[in-house]
Amino acid sequence: MKLTFYGATDTVTGSKFLVETERTRILVDCGLFQGVKSLRSRNWDRFPVKTDSLDAVVLTHAHLDHSGYVPVLTRRGRFRGKILCTTGTRDLARILLPDSGHLQEEQAKFLNRIGATRHRPAEPLYTSDEALAALKYFEAVPRHEDVQVGDLTIRFSRAGHILGASSVHVSDGRRSISFSGDVGRASDPLLKPPERMQDADVVVVESTYGNRRHPEVDTAQELAEVVRDTNARGGVLLIPAFAVGRSQMVLHELAKGMAAGTIPRVPVYLDSPMAISATELFVANDEDSRLSDAERQAMCDLVQPTPTVEQSKAITHAKGPMIVLSASGMATGGRILHHLAARLEDPANTVLFVGFQAAGTRGEALTSGAEEIKLHGRYFQVRAQIRRIEALSAHADYREILEWLRPMRKPESCYVVHGEPSARDAMRVRLQDELDWNAFAPPHGFSTLL
Ligand SMILES: [Zn+2]
Repeated sequence: MKLTFYGATDTVTGSKFLVETERTRILVDCGLFQGVKSLRSRNWDRFPVKTDSLDAVVLTHAHLDHSGYVPVLTRRGRFRGKILCTTGTRDLARILLPDSGHLQEEQAKFLNRIGATRHRPAEPLYTSDEALAALKYFEAVPRHEDVQVGDLTIRFSRAGHILGASSVHVSDGRRSISFSGDVGRASDPLLKPPERMQDADVVVVESTYGNRRHPEVDTAQELAEVVRDTNARGGVLLIPAFAVGRSQMVLHELAKGMAAGTIPRVPVYLDSPMAISATELFVANDEDSRLSDAERQAMCDLVQPTPTVEQSKAITHAKGPMIVLSASGMATGGRILHHLAARLEDPANTVLFVGFQAAGTRGEALTSGAEEIKLHGRYFQVRAQIRRIEALSAHADYREILEWLRPMRKPESCYVVHGEPSARDAMRVRLQDELDWNAFAPPHGFSTLL
């Protein structure tokens, strides 16, 4: 078997790993590069693998940095394979991929309008129609069952993180690779913990929090405090939230706190059509959930969804106190930008970040203390309070990942991916020092034979 790294080597985005035998070729994950422009521009590079030579794409989960490149492969009709994933991933991809196409179209339109493009006219990477067309290649398969693609056998196991997220074991009958995918936290209040990954000759592991530990804080208490503080100032609490995962977790904590009386009852708006759909899906699909039916329903009952643009505009300028959850989670796009523009300059308001903030994003700038921020071509002074609750992260920290890997048989080698360079290197050193594993940080395009 040959393994080649075509993404997520020096960044947390763009996951793409090619596994080949003489007869079979699969791509494990097919993610978009996101974040700073130099990364995003890689999405436009010619993909080094012939699309019609791929037998399957295997997705660990539906986040766009793992699935968002699929429509680029499928849109010219040359892709002959299947997209294999769990039911949860397929259902989430139905929500996320068309939206990604829509955002690409919006961005191209915007660039054309302001003339800020070297390509005239600017084209979207793919359209929402092309993303919709990609969905027909998806085939959901159950976890813990062998799936045959040519001479490769694939098996999914639960990874926590988000609905449907899985680790993937690939074997040619002789040699094997285990891909961690994004690994959730064993203590996640919403999702069942990650299952032990299958032993393999080679392990590919994520390192988003390779150099950080999540603080041992009472998340519920911290959230309650932020809501109470903001309320006392009569302000609005803005929560940029990833539509999938973190939104549901925040809603659950809010519902619990309001029921217990620790969080004041204020209107809660879920201002993201995608987050609304993802929440409905989470309530309907109990595959990975730890919550009871009643707890999942309470999340839904709590919120006032604002799917239409008119409803969204109405709350953008409404008076507080209130809580608005809106995507995107790193404030890179979406409706949260309008809310930030309307609320950032008022010290009564709070912006609360609840997930990982990648380098180059507005979320990272704000959480690192930026005094002004550019939105829609204009600078805004940051006068609102900026808060962050890291424990709400959907990713295990390095200690949790090491403990998760520890029971495995020692692999021949372990490749560390999906981390900013410093996090990835810290993870590599810890794997070596604490588990005595041969750990490497592969560069982009690196290949290994096994
Ligand atoms: Zn993810």
